[in-house]
Amino acid sequence: TTTKTKLQTIDAQHHIHPFTDSGDLVKKGTRVIERAEGVYLYDSEGNKILDGMAGLWCVNIGYGRQELIDAATEQMQQLPYYNSFFQCTTPPTIELAELLSELAPDHLNHVFFTGSGSESNDTMLRLARHYWACKGKPNKQVIIARKNAYHGSTVAGASLSGMTVMHKQGALPIAGIEHINQPYWFGEGFDEDPNEFGLRVARELEEKILELGEDNVAAFIAEPVQGAGGVVIPPESYWPEIQRICDQYEILLVSDEVICGFGRTGKWFGCDYFGTKPDLMPIAKGISSGYLPIGGVLISDEVAETLKNSGDEFYHGFTYSGHPTAAAVATANIKVLRDEGIVERVDQEIAPYFSEKLQQLASHPIVGEVRTLGLLAAIELMQDKEQHLFFEDKGAVGTRCRDISVTNGLVMRGVGSTMVMSPPLVITKEEIDLLYERVLKTLDDTAAEFL
Ligand code: PLP
Repeated sequence: TTTKTKLQTIDAQHHIHPFTDSGDLVKKGTRVIERAEGVYLYDSEGNKILDGMAGLWCVNIGYGRQELIDAATEQMQQLPYYNSFFQCTTPPTIELAELLSELAPDHLNHVFFTGSGSESNDTMLRLARHYWACKGKPNKQVIIARKNAYHGSTVAGASLSGMTVMHKQGALPIAGIEHINQPYWFGEGFDEDPNEFGLRVARELEEKILELGEDNVAAFIAEPVQGAGGVVIPPESYWPEIQRICDQYEILLVSDEVICGFGRTGKWFGCDYFGTKPDLMPIAKGISSGYLPIGGVLISDEVAETLKNSGDEFYHGFTYSGHPTAAAVATANIKVLRDEGIVERVDQEIAPYFSEKLQQLASHPIVGEVRTLGLLAAIELMQDKEQHLFFEDKGAVGTRCRDISVTNGLVMRGVGSTMVMSPPLVITKEEIDLLYERVLKTLDDTAAEFL
């Protein structure tokens, strides 16, 4: 047992953490992060840790940017808060809506603001169902999502998520949500040609629509690259087939861009990377680089016009929808990303370097596969790579590897036995070299314990 600091003791007594075994807080204590700068975190024990996860996939421009601090300060002095209900709004909310419309694909020129990614997905669900009702097709209600997806922790978000551990708590999913398989070739399709596998799992959407009847299906939701599910990069064949199916059966395509949005893939949005044309796009996280909570749903012209012409109100909204201070910070964040060419730099320079470095780890004895896309990465830990044999207790090895990584000065996360990373987009090549060294050391240490 370790000696816990006063802060850790108080924390264990009073703070229930998200996605954390409360018993562990009492036993092991928490890591108290006190400050951060650029890509580095500093904890209360004096450790300097490279943040390979950009917080929770969100601090795209890195920590400590003065432009965002100034935007928040100035807006708080001017007008810290007002709502956007009852025909009111504020200047920063308007400016952000315009900026998002400029950056998003051409047909997405409308936004509904929320306070988080979960709220964005709740909004998406109600909006998709309401849209079909406005179109005179009120039976189109079912939303199809994917197994192992993460779309949030609110009742709708957790229902859309395809993680069975979440469904066990709170009697989820709610009615009218179905799940199909994910395009996880390395874990679930290794015997097949990747593109044939991609087509086969995409066609599960078609089978599900035919089973339910297209008149009953409202939308399909997926992340361009499934993030929290283990950075699942789909085979090339996957997205074009999904787009075909959605078009053919008149199903709204929802691209959950909470992680993939705002440069993570080297394009502004993941749908730009894969060339899909979503009708709705939930966003959050990187919109403000996490400096303040804000999210939204980007909405196509067709859906927005239908709502406007319906003669009905959309009875939905949050106190913090379009929050002016959060909106001012998001705008400042997007301007940093845009004006400094950060997204283009990721695409042309940093992502290729990141990929080249990390691919060197593919020959490591404990590594079955390394995959990267933009600044997203997954490293598959395996018991026996020749036999394509995963560890029996995947969670145990992933969790241990995560803990070893932090000890080695790097935040890397374990999803089962898949180690994932998503560093800030401003990471330099020198910092990637350091990240690589720390991953290598962590893999060596993990292999010494488990192989
Ligand atoms: N959608 C995706 C793809 C996510 O990764 C997350 C969070 O990790 C969410 C939605 C939920 O966002 P939030 O935690 O802001 O509610």
